[in-house]
Amino acid sequence: MSELYQRWNTLWTRIDRATSESGRPKGSVRLLAVSKFQSTDSIRALYDLGQRDFGENYVQEALRKQAELADLKDLCWHFIGPIQRNKTSAIATHFDWVHSVDRFLIAERLSTHRPDTLPPLQICLQVNVDDEISKSGCKLEDVPDLVTAIMPLPGLELRGLMAIPAPGHTRAFAILSRLMQSWPQLDTLSMGMSADLEEAVIQGSTWLRVGTALFGSRTH
Ligand SMILES: *Cc1c(COP(=O)(O)O)cnc(C)c1O
Repeated sequence: MSELYQRWNTLWTRIDRATSESGRPKGSVRLLAVSKFQSTDSIRALYDLGQRDFGENYVQEALRKQAELADLKDLCWHFIGPIQRNKTSAIATHFDWVHSVDRFLIAERLSTHRPDTLPPLQICLQVNVDDEISKSGCKLEDVPDLVTAIMPLPGLELRGLMAIPAPGHTRAFAILSRLMQSWPQLDTLSMGMSADLEEAVIQGSTWLRVGTALFGSRTH
């Protein structure tokens, strides 16, 4: 049994157990495989196990991998890294989801650059729940105005909220989950990584973004 296969099994055992212990239906939590710094061979191996959604943090690296994997037609690419304004065109063209939108200017540019031939870009608003610790993400108090401003943008479909809490600050998951309940049209909570996915599932996560627990450590 390959190490990747063992990690895949162990990870799904964790996810399935957390899902059932939370009283949530099987399949309500989806796995985003975070493949930054991982090889396209590893992505292919996961594809063979059934994984279709992959998350990348860097535009150049992602575009290179997408080209190498162009024969896999049903891959779904998620951008999860900080977004520079000069990268919005490439991101709007080459991704299906963006989890890391944290200001209106970026949302507006992604909407403008989204090609008409593609469905609206699926996005999450990244929230900096532990204000003082991490740098990316909008402030909690700015979320209502941003949701109102981003909702009508034609090239985007705002799906929900995303957070990367500081290690151990799993309280952030409950805060994000409660906040999202203000908008019944939102259905997505992108939260939980290798170390804290159980807590995220209990609080309603719908996308777990998992790197090292799946691929092993990043060789970079
Ligand atoms: C790298 C990364 C992850 C995955 O983290 P692991 O601890 O390796 O599971 C998840 N989300 C974001 C935004 C990341 O940059």
